[in-house]
Amino acid sequence: MKVITVIGARPQFIKAAVVSRAFAKYRPDVQEIIVHTGQHYDANMSDVFFEELDIPRPDYNLGVGGGTHGQNTGRMIEKLEGLMMEVRPAWVLVFGDTDSTLAGALAAAKLHIPVAHVEAGLRSYNRKMPEEINRVLTDHIAELLFAPTENGRKNLLEEGVPAEKIKLVGDVMHDAALFYTEKARKPKLPTEFDLEGEGFVLCTIHRAENTDDPRRLKSIFQGLEDSGAQILLPMHPRTQTKVLDSEISIADNIWVIDPVGYLEMIWLEANCRCVATDSGGVQKEAFFFKKPCKTMRYETEWVELVESGWNRLVGASAKEITDALTSISLPISTNSLYGDGNAGEKIVMMIEASRE
Ligand code: UDP
Repeated sequence: MKVITVIGARPQFIKAAVVSRAFAKYRPDVQEIIVHTGQHYDANMSDVFFEELDIPRPDYNLGVGGGTHGQNTGRMIEKLEGLMMEVRPAWVLVFGDTDSTLAGALAAAKLHIPVAHVEAGLRSYNRKMPEEINRVLTDHIAELLFAPTENGRKNLLEEGVPAEKIKLVGDVMHDAALFYTEKARKPKLPTEFDLEGEGFVLCTIHRAENTDDPRRLKSIFQGLEDSGAQILLPMHPRTQTKVLDSEISIADNIWVIDPVGYLEMIWLEANCRCVATDSGGVQKEAFFFKKPCKTMRYETEWVELVESGWNRLVGASAKEITDALTSISLPISTNSLYGDGNAGEKIVMMIEASRE
């Protein structure tokens, strides 16, 4: 059986690493063909993950990136369609909520190739987010929907997705965090940054709603500055550009570094005092490493983190961000929310069992 896996952006490399490893271990008879759309192409946003996480090299790289959402999605669909017509896979596997996810799903569906969607059912109910459009459409195209949480399953049922298509398997990012923890690596930083002392705040910012609105971006940096916390910020390329465009000056308590690889990132998550982020994946990883998370958004897809007290939504308000970073406490509940660490295994078994 042939399966085409479509990936293109940083979080998808991490999720795909889990599933590829499970194919190799539990279903070596399945021929997985990995297609990188080229959505993320910088070495530290792409290559490093293939090297560190032992993901098989992509069989194809479509080289589509750097355009607008419409340009990228359109070019990807065109190239993916050609490839799928040639390979004729039994399944197309897509992850998460990027333009690569939607392009893979649309190209496959029009060729009547069934789509399996990993990380199905997540909703922010904010249709201004490009990710929300991508995930809603992909879910309604998919034949197999792998929900990471009970909440995801519930959202899909409420939208009328037939129950038999939905599989609650847990979260592949939980599998990844468990598997790679022992390989976590302390990053090399300038000696003045103290990774061991009082504790630092690990921060990431890249959501378009924050980066593309200069007032909002300024307000976030103001909040980080006013907190006085020692902040380490591996900065996404998009944010780097927007910070320059908006002429934001970065305060002395904020240490900006280039994006780090996953093994360094999970070391930082395991060793920080607190996380401040607008990333989906990093919110959960904070929980995996039992670190409180302050989410710089007004809503989250990972509502169970807020309900359990591990996550506080602080939006882009400077005051809220400062308050949250100056009153950090640990919640009591440590219930497992994202499965047993075997989501990858379940996914490959179910894809194989559902071969058409
Ligand atoms: N990540 C990383 N290096 C960084 C920042 C993030 O390896 O410098 C990882 C992080 O650990 C998580 C994933 O990238 O596994 C999250 O990706 P991102 O925040 O880009 O996307 P989102 O999860 O918001 O879709």
